[in-house]
Amino acid sequence: MEHMKDSKWDFALVLRQKYQEEIFREALRREGVELDAPYALTDIKVLEKVDVSGYKIIATIEHGETKVKSLVKCRYLIGADGGKSFVRRAMNIPFEGSSSEDKWVRIDGVIETDLPKPRTYCAIESPSHGNVLWAALDHGATRIGFAFTAERQKAYEEFNEEAAVKEAIASVKPFSLKFKQVDWWTIYVVGQRIARSFFVNDCVFLAGDACHTHSSGAAQGMNTGMHDAVNLGWKLSLVLQGLAKPDLLHTYEAERLPNVQKLINYDKDISRLMTMQLPESWTGDPNADPNEILGKVMAEAATFSSGLGIYYESDTYLNIQQSEDISMVQPGQRAPDVVLQKPATFEGTRLQAETPNTALFYIVVFAGDVAMTKPSLASFTEFLSTLSSLHDPTLPIQKLSIFAGPGGPSAYETLGDMPFGRVFYDEDHSAHQRYGISVEKGAVFVLRPDGWVGTVVGLDGSAAGKLDRYFGKFLNGVGSGKGGAKL
Ligand SMILES: Cc1cc2nc3c(=O)[nH]c(=O)nc-3n(C[C@H](O)[C@H](O)[C@H](O)COP(=O)(O)OP(=O)(O)OC[C@H]3O[C@@H](n4cnc5c(N)ncnc54)[C@H](O)[C@@H]3O)c2cc1C
Repeated sequence: MEHMKDSKWDFALVLRQKYQEEIFREALRREGVELDAPYALTDIKVLEKVDVSGYKIIATIEHGETKVKSLVKCRYLIGADGGKSFVRRAMNIPFEGSSSEDKWVRIDGVIETDLPKPRTYCAIESPSHGNVLWAALDHGATRIGFAFTAERQKAYEEFNEEAAVKEAIASVKPFSLKFKQVDWWTIYVVGQRIARSFFVNDCVFLAGDACHTHSSGAAQGMNTGMHDAVNLGWKLSLVLQGLAKPDLLHTYEAERLPNVQKLINYDKDISRLMTMQLPESWTGDPNADPNEILGKVMAEAATFSSGLGIYYESDTYLNIQQSEDISMVQPGQRAPDVVLQKPATFEGTRLQAETPNTALFYIVVFAGDVAMTKPSLASFTEFLSTLSSLHDPTLPIQKLSIFAGPGGPSAYETLGDMPFGRVFYDEDHSAHQRYGISVEKGAVFVLRPDGWVGTVVGLDGSAAGKLDRYFGKFLNGVGSGKGGAKL
C-alpha cells in the first residue's frame, strides 16, 4: 500500500477483534501464561506515605461467582478496563470530551451482492447514510457500517437485528445486498473523550479505552490501546526489574497523551465527514463535498493510522536530539525497518527482526564503508572501553554493527579487531540511504525497546560519552561521566 513503507507488513488485513484476541491468548499460552479474568476490581487504596519503590496500592478484588473478596498489594496498577473504567472513576480522573447525537451501526454477516469487487475494503457515498463502510472480513463475512442519523432513528421504536439489516440494505443502494447469515450487529453513540491524566499518584496508569474513546471511523481504538501497551510495557518491566529509574514511567503520559489528542482531533473531523458534515474548524468552501474532504483527511492521517508515522516529541530525557545533520531519521521517530544481510550466509534479514522488543535497548552502529570509517570506529570503541558502566552484562542494552557494502571473509579481518556487537551487512547501502547516513562517516543510533529512535550521535571519539550520558538519565548503574562531550 502507498502509505505503508518501512515495514515488512505493507498490506491491509481485516481480522475481527475476537479472532485477534484469540491469537494473543494463544501467544501468551506459548509463554506459559493463561489469561483468565474471574475477578472484578472493586476498590483501590493508594498509600500516600509509601514511596515509589514500595507497595503503594491495596486493591480489592471480588470473585465473580463466589463473591469472595481478596486484597492485593501492588506497586503499580494499570486501568485497562474499558470506556467505563472503574479505575478512572475511582481515581477521580476527568474524562473530557463530548458525544454526538448520531449513532453508528455495524453489521457483520455472509452476504450476496452485485457490488463490483465485493471482497475489498471500500466506501460507498450514500445520500441517506453518509460514507458507508464496506469491509471484506475473515471467514467469508462482510462488515457494513453506516451513520444512523437522529432523523432516521425516528422510524424505529426498537432498533433490532431486522432493523439493522433493513438499514444496511438501504445504505448500500444502488447496489443489492442480501444477508445469508448475520454474525453480529451493534448500534452505538459516537463521541470523543480523553482522560485528563494517564498516570496519577506515581502508581496508577490508564491505558486503552479507559483513557480514550472515539469513533471507529479510522479503526483506531484497539490499535491505540496497543500502542499504549507497547509504550508502557518495556518501561514498567525495566523499572520493576530495578534496571531503570521510576521517573522513566512519566514518559508514558508525556508520549502517549499528545498522540491520543492528535487521534481525537482527526477523529472529530472524520466522524463528522462520515455523516456528511464538514469539520467544525472548516474554513474552506462551505459547499465542499464532505466525501472528497474525507478522502483527503484519511490520506493525511494514513501514516499515523497505520502506526508507522507515530512520533514522540524530542525532549532532554528519552528522545534526545543531538545533531540534525547526522541522519534523516530523528529521535522520537519509529526506526524504519530496513533489509540487511547476515554474515557468512548473507541470508536476508530485517532490522526489526534483529531488534525484537524484549525490554532491551539496542546501540546500532551504522559503520558506513569501513575502508573510510575505520579510524572513527576505532576511536568510538576505544572510548567505549573506558566506560566500564556500559560493559556491565546485566544492562538492558544490546549492540549491533551494520557495515555498508558486501561482507568480506569476516568482520574481524575487515576491521583488524573485534567488531562492535553482532554484525550485519548493508550490501546495496539501502539501509544507510533510508536513514540518511553518509557511508563515509557512519553514525550511532540508539533504538528504544519499542523500536523508536532514542538518540543519534556521530561516529567518533565523543559518541561513547554521549551514550553514557543518555543511558545515565534513566538506567540505574550507568553514567560514569568519563570521556566524551556533554549532551
Ligand atoms: C463497532 C466497533 C468497531 C470497532 N472497530 C475497531 C477497529 O476496526 N480497529 C480498532 O483498532 N478498534 C476498533 N474498535 C475499538 C476497540 O474494540 C476498542 O478500542 C478496544 O476493545 C478497547 O480495548 P480495551 O482493552 O481498552 O477495553 P475493552 O475491550 O473494553 O476491555 C476492558 C476489559 O476490562 C474488563 N473490566 C471492566 N471493568 C472491570 C473491573 N472493575 N474489574 C475487572 N475487569 C474489568 C472488561 O470486562 C473487559 O474485559 C471498535 C469498536 C466498536 C464498538
